[in-house]
Amino acid sequence: MQNNRICDSFIVCKSCDALVKKCELKRYQSVACPRCGAYLCCGRIHSFEVLFSLIVTDLVLFLFSNIFPFISFHLRGREQITFLSSGALELCRQNFSELGILVLLTAIIFPLIEILGLFYIILSLRLNIRFYKTEEIFRFVNYIGEWAMMEVFMLGLVVVYVKLIKLATMKLMPSFYFFSGFIISMTMTSIFIDRDKIWEKLEKMK
Ligand SMILES: [Zn+2]
Repeated sequence: MQNNRICDSFIVCKSCDALVKKCELKRYQSVACPRCGAYLCCGRIHSFEVLFSLIVTDLVLFLFSNIFPFISFHLRGREQITFLSSGALELCRQNFSELGILVLLTAIIFPLIEILGLFYIILSLRLNIRFYKTEEIFRFVNYIGEWAMMEVFMLGLVVVYVKLIKLATMKLMPSFYFFSGFIISMTMTSIFIDRDKIWEKLEKMK
């Protein structure tokens, strides 16, 4: 998500374009636009250590989600085990390639790029070493993050699970729990991340 920042001293309101002077905020304090009342920003923990731990958690949960089986089906004595990527690959096999690629991109590829990009940026900030093209990568990560839709994918899977449970015996496998944890962890990351502070730190490292 793009932030409201335009310079170090002001915040621009996305709803009415009002310029609001920035001030130091304590944790959980927030700023609303004085003209239209829209939410502008809030005080967050500016600890890159906490953020780095969350991103490592995201990465581990994402890898485990893709390594372990997701759901097993038992129907008429036959068992089929599916993985997180199975649905997208099956769509490609059944001539729904565009849909399959879209699912693969939004549920697996884009989230992976986002986590790896954030890992790269926060590692650079933690070590206080300027890595190669950090600004460009952070800008790209912010853009690609808007296309990561794991929650929508998960919701679709839950709907399919509820529909099919009457026809077949289904069992949730470890990947389901890892992927659920991954969605929660990514939500925590998006709450903790302060893109303003990251841009400021990147500027100081120039
Ligand atoms: Zn406003």
